Amino acid sequence: MYKIFHSPGEIIHRGGGFGTQYLDQLREDEKWVYAVELRRYLRSTYNLTIGEYYNLVVYDDKDKKHYCRICGKELPFYKLTKPYRQMCSMKCKGEREKELRAENPEYYHEINMKWQAGGSAAVKKMFNEGTHPFQTAEVHARSRLTNFIHNAEWNYKDDHATIYWAKPKGRFDVFKIGITTSEKVDKHLFRDKYRAAYPIISGTLVEISNIEYLLKVMHEKRDEYYPINKFREVINFIKSSVVHG
Ligand SMILES: [Zn+2]
Repeated sequence: MYKIFHSPGEIIHRGGGFGTQYLDQLREDEKWVYAVELRRYLRSTYNLTIGEYYNLVVYDDKDKKHYCRICGKELPFYKLTKPYRQMCSMKCKGEREKELRAENPEYYHEINMKWQAGGSAAVKKMFNEGTHPFQTAEVHARSRLTNFIHNAEWNYKDDHATIYWAKPKGRFDVFKIGITTSEKVDKHLFRDKYRAAYPIISGTLVEISNIEYLLKVMHEKRDEYYPINKFREVINFIKSSVVHG
Protein backbone atom coordinates (compact mmCIF):
# COMPACT_ATOMS: atom_id res chain seq x y z
CA MET A 1 0.00 0.00 0.00
CA TYR A 2 2.97 2.30 0.44
CA LYS A 3 5.54 2.47 -2.32
CA ILE A 4 8.96 4.02 -1.80
CA PHE A 5 9.92 5.83 -4.97
CA HIS A 6 13.20 7.35 -3.86
CA SER A 7 16.23 5.70 -2.22
CA PRO A 8 14.66 2.97 -0.09
CA GLY A 9 16.88 2.34 2.92
CA GLU A 10 17.81 5.93 3.65
CA ILE A 11 16.10 9.16 4.58
CA ILE A 12 16.85 11.92 2.08
CA HIS A 13 17.17 15.49 3.28
CA ARG A 14 18.78 18.72 2.17
CA GLY A 15 19.86 21.91 3.91
CA GLY A 16 20.50 22.14 7.63
CA GLY A 17 19.31 23.76 10.83
CA PHE A 18 16.02 25.58 10.48
CA GLY A 19 16.17 25.23 6.69
CA THR A 20 16.26 21.41 6.68
CA GLN A 21 13.87 19.84 4.20
CA TYR A 22 12.93 16.18 3.73
CA LEU A 23 12.09 14.57 0.42
CA ASP A 24 8.71 12.85 0.36
CA GLN A 25 10.04 9.45 -0.70
CA LEU A 26 6.56 7.95 -1.00
CA ARG A 27 5.71 10.17 -3.94
CA GLU A 28 6.89 9.66 -7.49
CA ASP A 29 7.61 13.31 -8.21
CA GLU A 30 9.95 15.46 -6.17
CA LYS A 31 8.32 17.13 -3.18
CA TRP A 32 10.32 18.62 -0.31
CA VAL A 33 8.81 19.30 3.11
CA TYR A 34 10.30 21.52 5.78
CA ALA A 35 11.30 19.64 8.94
CA VAL A 36 8.94 21.69 11.10
CA GLU A 37 5.99 20.78 8.86
CA LEU A 38 6.85 17.12 8.43
CA ARG A 39 4.82 15.70 11.31
CA ARG A 40 1.56 17.29 10.16
CA TYR A 41 2.29 16.61 6.48
CA LEU A 42 2.88 12.87 7.02
CA ARG A 43 -0.20 12.60 9.21
CA SER A 44 -2.53 14.34 6.80
CA THR A 45 -1.08 12.83 3.60
CA TYR A 46 -0.37 9.22 4.64
CA ASN A 47 -1.68 8.89 8.20
CA LEU A 48 1.87 8.07 9.31
CA THR A 49 3.87 9.26 12.30
CA ILE A 50 7.44 10.36 11.66
CA GLY A 51 8.65 7.14 13.29
CA GLU A 52 6.44 5.02 11.04
CA TYR A 53 7.65 6.94 7.99
CA TYR A 54 11.26 6.36 9.03
CA ASN A 55 10.74 2.63 9.51
CA LEU A 56 8.84 2.36 6.24
CA VAL A 57 11.54 4.06 4.17
CA VAL A 58 14.52 2.49 5.92
CA TYR A 59 13.19 -1.01 6.75
CA ASP A 60 10.15 -1.31 4.47
CA ASP A 61 8.15 -1.99 7.65
CA LYS A 62 6.31 0.90 9.27
CA ASP A 63 5.78 -1.14 12.44
CA LYS A 64 9.37 -2.29 12.79
CA LYS A 65 10.38 -2.58 16.46
CA HIS A 66 13.74 -1.67 17.92
CA TYR A 67 15.05 -3.16 21.13
CA CYS A 68 17.64 -2.26 23.74
CA ARG A 69 20.76 -4.26 22.96
CA ILE A 70 21.37 -4.89 26.65
CA CYS A 71 17.99 -5.69 28.24
CA GLY A 72 15.74 -6.18 25.20
CA LYS A 73 13.17 -3.54 26.16
CA GLU A 74 11.43 -1.84 23.23
CA LEU A 75 12.96 1.52 22.31
CA PRO A 76 11.01 4.68 21.45
CA PHE A 77 11.60 6.54 18.18
CA TYR A 78 13.42 9.78 18.96
CA LYS A 79 13.67 11.93 15.84
CA LEU A 80 14.71 11.59 12.19
CA THR A 81 18.27 12.76 12.69
CA LYS A 82 18.71 10.41 15.70
CA PRO A 83 16.01 7.79 15.18
CA TYR A 84 16.77 5.21 17.87
CA ARG A 85 19.22 4.86 20.69
CA GLN A 86 20.80 1.49 21.15
CA MET A 87 20.09 1.31 24.87
CA CYS A 88 16.95 2.18 26.83
CA SER A 89 18.41 3.78 29.97
CA MET A 90 21.52 5.15 31.64
CA LYS A 91 21.83 1.82 33.42
CA CYS A 92 21.93 -0.17 30.16
CA LYS A 93 24.21 2.47 28.64
CA GLY A 94 26.60 1.89 31.54
CA GLU A 95 26.54 -1.85 30.85
CA ARG A 96 27.21 -1.20 27.17
CA GLU A 97 30.16 1.03 28.05
CA LYS A 98 31.67 -1.75 30.09
CA GLU A 99 31.32 -4.03 27.07
CA LEU A 100 32.89 -1.43 24.76
CA ARG A 101 35.81 -0.89 27.10
CA ALA A 102 36.39 -4.62 27.23
CA GLU A 103 36.11 -4.91 23.42
CA ASN A 104 38.20 -1.84 22.55
CA PRO A 105 40.82 -1.27 25.22
CA GLU A 106 43.06 0.62 22.74
CA TYR A 107 40.36 3.14 21.85
CA TYR A 108 39.65 4.08 25.46
CA HIS A 109 43.32 4.07 26.29
CA GLU A 110 43.90 6.54 23.46
CA ILE A 111 41.14 8.86 24.70
CA ASN A 112 42.59 8.80 28.21
CA MET A 113 46.11 9.47 26.95
CA LYS A 114 45.00 12.38 24.76
CA TRP A 115 43.11 13.86 27.67
CA GLN A 116 45.99 13.46 30.08
CA ALA A 117 48.47 14.89 27.58
CA GLY A 118 46.34 18.01 27.04
CA GLY A 119 45.30 18.42 30.67
CA SER A 120 48.55 17.74 32.48
CA ALA A 121 50.78 19.89 30.24
CA ALA A 122 48.63 22.96 30.85
CA VAL A 123 48.33 22.33 34.59
CA LYS A 124 52.09 21.88 34.88
CA LYS A 125 52.65 25.15 33.04
CA MET A 126 50.32 26.93 35.45
CA PHE A 127 52.15 25.50 38.43
CA ASN A 128 55.42 26.76 36.96
CA GLU A 129 53.94 30.19 36.38
CA GLY A 130 52.27 30.29 39.78
CA THR A 131 48.86 30.59 38.18
CA HIS A 132 47.38 27.26 39.14
CA PRO A 133 43.63 27.75 39.57
CA PHE A 134 41.33 26.85 42.39
CA GLN A 135 40.54 23.20 42.46
CA THR A 136 36.82 23.84 42.07
CA ALA A 137 37.10 25.47 38.66
CA GLU A 138 39.27 22.61 37.45
CA VAL A 139 36.90 19.94 38.76
CA HIS A 140 33.93 21.78 37.29
CA ALA A 141 35.57 22.10 33.86
CA ARG A 142 36.68 18.49 33.88
CA SER A 143 33.24 17.17 34.70
CA ARG A 144 31.79 19.26 31.87
CA LEU A 145 34.37 17.84 29.50
CA THR A 146 33.60 14.23 30.32
CA ASN A 147 29.85 14.90 30.30
CA PHE A 148 30.03 16.53 26.89
CA ILE A 149 31.94 13.62 25.38
CA HIS A 150 29.68 11.03 26.99
CA ASN A 151 26.50 12.82 25.92
CA ALA A 152 27.73 13.12 22.37
CA GLU A 153 28.59 9.43 22.21
CA TRP A 154 25.30 8.54 23.88
CA ASN A 155 23.41 10.44 21.21
CA TYR A 156 25.39 8.79 18.42
CA LYS A 157 26.79 11.98 17.09
CA ASP A 158 29.76 11.86 14.76
CA ASP A 159 33.14 12.41 16.34
CA HIS A 160 33.01 16.09 15.49
CA ALA A 161 32.53 19.23 17.55
CA THR A 162 32.83 22.98 17.12
CA ILE A 163 33.85 25.65 19.57
CA TYR A 164 32.02 28.93 19.00
CA TRP A 165 31.58 32.33 20.53
CA ALA A 166 28.24 34.05 20.97
CA LYS A 167 26.69 37.35 21.97
CA PRO A 168 24.22 36.58 24.76
CA LYS A 169 20.83 38.30 24.66
CA GLY A 170 20.56 41.26 26.98
CA ARG A 171 24.25 41.28 27.93
CA PHE A 172 26.91 43.42 26.33
CA ASP A 173 29.73 43.14 28.90
CA VAL A 174 30.44 39.45 28.24
CA PHE A 175 30.69 36.94 25.43
CA LYS A 176 30.07 33.25 25.63
CA ILE A 177 32.37 30.41 24.59
CA GLY A 178 30.50 27.20 23.90
CA ILE A 179 30.95 23.82 22.30
CA THR A 180 28.42 21.98 20.20
CA THR A 181 28.11 18.87 18.09
CA SER A 182 25.74 20.62 15.66
CA GLU A 183 26.86 20.05 12.10
CA LYS A 184 26.14 23.56 11.04
CA VAL A 185 27.20 26.45 13.23
CA ASP A 186 26.04 29.79 11.93
CA LYS A 187 24.97 33.00 13.56
CA HIS A 188 21.43 31.72 14.07
CA LEU A 189 22.54 28.78 16.18
CA PHE A 190 20.61 28.82 19.48
CA ARG A 191 18.92 32.02 18.36
CA ASP A 192 16.60 31.84 21.35
CA LYS A 193 19.60 32.47 23.61
CA TYR A 194 22.05 34.53 21.58
CA ARG A 195 21.93 37.62 19.44
CA ALA A 196 24.48 35.88 17.21
CA ALA A 197 26.92 32.94 17.29
CA TYR A 198 30.11 32.36 15.31
CA PRO A 199 32.19 29.21 14.84
CA ILE A 200 35.88 29.44 15.82
CA ILE A 201 37.34 26.00 15.09
CA SER A 202 36.17 22.42 14.68
CA GLY A 203 37.82 19.14 15.58
CA THR A 204 37.16 15.82 17.27
CA LEU A 205 35.04 15.71 20.42
CA VAL A 206 38.11 15.11 22.54
CA GLU A 207 40.14 17.93 20.98
CA ILE A 208 37.38 20.52 21.21
CA SER A 209 36.34 19.50 24.73
CA ASN A 210 39.96 19.70 25.84
CA ILE A 211 40.34 23.24 24.52
CA GLU A 212 37.23 24.38 26.38
CA TYR A 213 38.50 22.63 29.50
CA LEU A 214 41.92 24.31 29.35
CA LEU A 215 40.37 27.69 28.71
CA LYS A 216 38.12 27.37 31.75
CA VAL A 217 40.91 26.17 33.97
CA MET A 218 43.15 29.05 32.89
CA HIS A 219 40.44 31.61 33.52
CA GLU A 220 39.12 29.86 36.64
CA LYS A 221 35.71 29.82 35.04
CA ARG A 222 32.69 27.99 36.35
CA ASP A 223 30.48 29.32 33.61
CA GLU A 224 30.90 30.04 29.89
CA TYR A 225 30.83 33.84 30.01
CA TYR A 226 34.03 35.82 29.56
CA PRO A 227 34.46 39.58 29.96
CA ILE A 228 34.49 41.39 26.64
CA ASN A 229 37.99 42.83 27.27
CA LYS A 230 39.37 39.25 27.18
CA PHE A 231 37.97 38.66 23.70
CA ARG A 232 41.24 38.76 21.68
CA GLU A 233 43.13 36.74 24.27
CA VAL A 234 40.50 34.01 24.44
CA ILE A 235 39.99 33.74 20.69
CA ASN A 236 43.74 33.63 20.08
CA PHE A 237 44.16 30.93 22.70
CA ILE A 238 41.47 28.79 21.05
CA LYS A 239 42.90 29.26 17.56
CA SER A 240 46.41 28.38 18.75
CA SER A 241 45.12 25.23 20.52
CA VAL A 242 44.30 23.26 17.39
CA VAL A 243 45.55 19.73 17.82
CA HIS A 244 47.62 18.48 14.91
CA GLY A 245 47.72 14.97 13.50
ZN1 LIG B 1 17.83 -1.66 28.39
